[in-house]
Parts: sequence; C-alpha cells; structure tokens
Amino acid sequence: MSKLGNRPLVPLNIRDLSPYVAGKTIAEVKEEYDPPEISKLASNENRLGCSSHVQPQVVKAMQEIQDYPDPASGQLREVLADENNIDPENIIVGAGSESLIANLCRTFFLNNEEAVTADATFVGFFVQGNIRGISIKKIPVTDDYRYDLNAMADAISERTKMVYIANPNNPTGTYITRSEFEQFMRKVPSDVLVVMDEAYFEFAQDVSDYPHSLRYDFDNVITLRTFSKAYGLAGFRVGYGIASKKIITEMMKTKLTFEPTVAAQAAALAALGDPAFLKKTKDVVNEGKKRLYKFFEEHGVSYVSSISNSVMMVLPTEQAAIDFTQKMLEQGVILRRINAFGLPNCVRITIGRKKEMRHFERSFKNLIEAQELPSI
Ligand SMILES: *Cc1c(COP(=O)(O)O)cnc(C)c1O
Repeated sequence: MSKLGNRPLVPLNIRDLSPYVAGKTIAEVKEEYDPPEISKLASNENRLGCSSHVQPQVVKAMQEIQDYPDPASGQLREVLADENNIDPENIIVGAGSESLIANLCRTFFLNNEEAVTADATFVGFFVQGNIRGISIKKIPVTDDYRYDLNAMADAISERTKMVYIANPNNPTGTYITRSEFEQFMRKVPSDVLVVMDEAYFEFAQDVSDYPHSLRYDFDNVITLRTFSKAYGLAGFRVGYGIASKKIITEMMKTKLTFEPTVAAQAAALAALGDPAFLKKTKDVVNEGKKRLYKFFEEHGVSYVSSISNSVMMVLPTEQAAIDFTQKMLEQGVILRRINAFGLPNCVRITIGRKKEMRHFERSFKNLIEAQELPSI
C-alpha cells in the first residue's frame, strides 16, 4: 500500500448514532448514592422476577450447553403455535423482539424505501432503522399522546415499505383501539408491512376495545411479542414474531442463526407453563397503577393513563424532568427519562410491587416537603 487513504471509517448514518444509554443499574446507584432502599422502576421489567418454573429448566438445559441451540426454536414454536391457534411456520423466535425489529429492517427494505411511525415511540425501532439507513417518517403523536393514525395513513407513499406501531405504545402506555386499527388497515396498501409491536400484550389483552392483531387475517401484518416484560425474562432475550408464512420464510433466512440461546429457549418454554405467575403479575400491575393514579391525582401531577406496565408523568419542562429524575435517583428510585423516545419533558415509571410503589410515593413526598418540586 503506497499511502494511507482518507475514506471515512463508517457511513454517516452510523457515525450519527448515539450509543444506547440504559437506565442506571442497582449496583451503580448503590455505589453512587448508597440509599437505604433501591427500587428499579426504569425499564418496564417485571418486579416480581420470573416464574419459579424457569430456574430448574435452565439448570437442566446446562447439560446441552456445549451444543448449538435449535436454530428454529422448534419446541418453543410448537407451544406458541398451539397457544395462538396458528402453525409453527407462522412464527419466528429471536433474541428479544428488538432482534426481530433488526431483522425486519434488514430483510424487507429496498434502496430508498422508508418507514412510517410516531415521533414518540420505542427507541429501538428508530435505532435499527437508522443502522440500516432507512428514512423514518415520524408523525407527531396527538395532544393526548396517542398515535395519529389518520396522519400516518396520509404519510404513506409509494416509497413506504413499513409502518411501525407499538400497541400499547412505549413510552406513553396509550393504545390504538379496535375500530382505529380496522379503519387504518382499510387505508394501508397490501404491500405495506404493518408491524404491531405487542411487547405489553399480556397487560393489555383484557381491555375491551384493544385489538388483538392475531384475530385478524391480514397478510401484511407482523405481530411482535416478547418474554421480557410480563414473563420477567428480559435477561434471557427471547421474543417472537407472528406473520404469514411468506413473511416468516424470508425472516428465517436472515435471522442470526443460533439465537436465542439454549438456556433462553428453555426459560421461555418453562415460563409458558406457569399461567398463575402471569396472572399474579397482571394483578400486581393493575393494583399498582390504580394506586399511582390516585397518588398523582391527590398531588396534582399530570400523567397519561396506561394499559401497559408503566405510566408516564408529564412535567412542564425538560429541566423539570431532569431534576425530578435525579432527585428521585438520589433517594434510590430509578426512573426513566424518555428524551430518546421523543418526549424530553416526560418521565416513565414502571409499575412495581407495593413496596416499590410506596418507596416512590415516600420519596416524592420528601421532595414536596423539601419544596424541591416547585414546578410540578
Ligand atoms: C421492551 C420493548 C421491546 C424490547 O423487547 P425485547 O424483547 O427485550 O427486545 C420491544 N418493543 C417495545 C415496545 C418495548 O417496550
């Protein structure tokens, strides 16, 4: 080689990405502030842990840990197919639904094709889209933090390959209703893929006008679900997608071959066998939400009603959101600012057990008493 070149190291779409900033871990908060109690209410995880069925099955799976996992997650797909009344060929399993979002972004877009979604939604879709260089039309949410489906339908052009909808949405907790979904689908051309990310399905499924996307027969709809939230297996990384065989066939070609791991597949299977744990989780979340709404109403806090396992507080300014999150953190309550999701003045609170919600309330009241919440 005669001379070092000066080509850029990476394309601009990669250079301009920001690395993911996760919520603080319990260990970090302990190290930094050493509060008497720590409640991690930042990442919509299950504060009850996971089903007791999981651990023995994961230990058992260790006997096979030297072997590659089943790349098709055959056993897990069988059980999921049974549960949902579909064929295993309609299902793909990946290392979390984020992996499936990445798969969707790398599989279906031709050059110059674009995606449509809301401006305040799951940051993972923005990131995976940007990595693939997909231009994403972000349609502003309504004043009550809901998807503006009419505007989204209007934004669909000849170049639109995909619409991404998280239902219920993260971080807002709001949802699109059955009639909104049906009306929207009538407007969407059949060659536009509609991703219904149902990461919080288990919390939402009993809401009367919540549309179960699987109950419809649209060939262009892809439903995403995960074991990370209600099932409490975020650390294992298991999610699945459900769609027409035509779509799943293509995604199976582009998936990372050996995900999820042997242990993760075993964990997911075990979790599916414990509906009682799921029921308990839902009860705790519903109770916690009611309690939090009441608390917010008593203290004049503006919040958005949610059908998922988190509730969003609306503060007057970004600075107020920064200060509030920091002062709660110093008392051991880890919350999530959602500036990266497009809402800089909002804070998301994951619903935990009663103990954690009390800790939240107590810490909040401390701030009021110290007059450190003047602007809420
Ligand atoms: C948490 C979340 C995910 C990511 O789930 P994983 O399965 O852990 O990758 C996907 N979509 C939404 C809307 C989420 O909130």
